[in-house]
Amino acid sequence: MVSIKSASEIAKMAEAGKIAAHALNVVGEKLRPGMTTLDIDKIVHREITSHGGEPNFLHLYGFPGSACVSVNEEVIHGIPGGRKLREGDIVSVDLGARYKGWNSDTCYTFAVGEIAPEVKKLLEDTEASLYKAIEAAQVGARIGDISHTVEVYCRERGYGIVQNYCGHGIGREVHEDPEVPNHGKAGHGMRLAEGMTICIEPMINLVGDDVHTLPNGWTVVTDSGSYSAHFEHMVHITANGPVILTKR
Ligand code: MG
Repeated sequence: MVSIKSASEIAKMAEAGKIAAHALNVVGEKLRPGMTTLDIDKIVHREITSHGGEPNFLHLYGFPGSACVSVNEEVIHGIPGGRKLREGDIVSVDLGARYKGWNSDTCYTFAVGEIAPEVKKLLEDTEASLYKAIEAAQVGARIGDISHTVEVYCRERGYGIVQNYCGHGIGREVHEDPEVPNHGKAGHGMRLAEGMTICIEPMINLVGDDVHTLPNGWTVVTDSGSYSAHFEHMVHITANGPVILTKR
């Protein structure tokens, strides 16, 4: 079921969004080669809890970290641990906060030092596809308009699009209806209405669409072994256009 949020509920979600965005900002400031993915997780936990939130990924479906920290060929659900970041790596940090019972969810893929030009372009294009898709999230538009926007933008640039995972509604639960895929037909799917809150999150591969899950049961990696980027915002659908609640 899709829930429509009241103004006071949106205010709490906006606060949850702010806390999550702040945590991502601090990760961006502290990120250095030599750090482990667990170091990032600790920063996320500290920044969310010290700002009045709870890390809502922790124990969600049994996930062991406060953030999903996915390096290079890891697409999503990287488990924080001993993997050390090296110059030239990229790292996707996906996190969310719960504030007074309301959730946020956001992701950014950071470059660790200098990265290869084609990888830099992958990050820029994936982020640009997110902002294009957000523009499509207007009252009266359909979910398929968002999906199609991501698909066209990324296909035109020759990238692979992860199809097995998608964006989602959000509110009291981290994952609510509707699903928001990164590929689809314009003019199809649920119509967007004022008061909906959705997470739009393109997961885009440098090479090929296909992914698989590692034996740890969580971490999704590209079949090609090549890089994957992931950018996500939580968006409030309003009569005056989409409002990003996780703006950094
Ligand atoms: Mg999400």
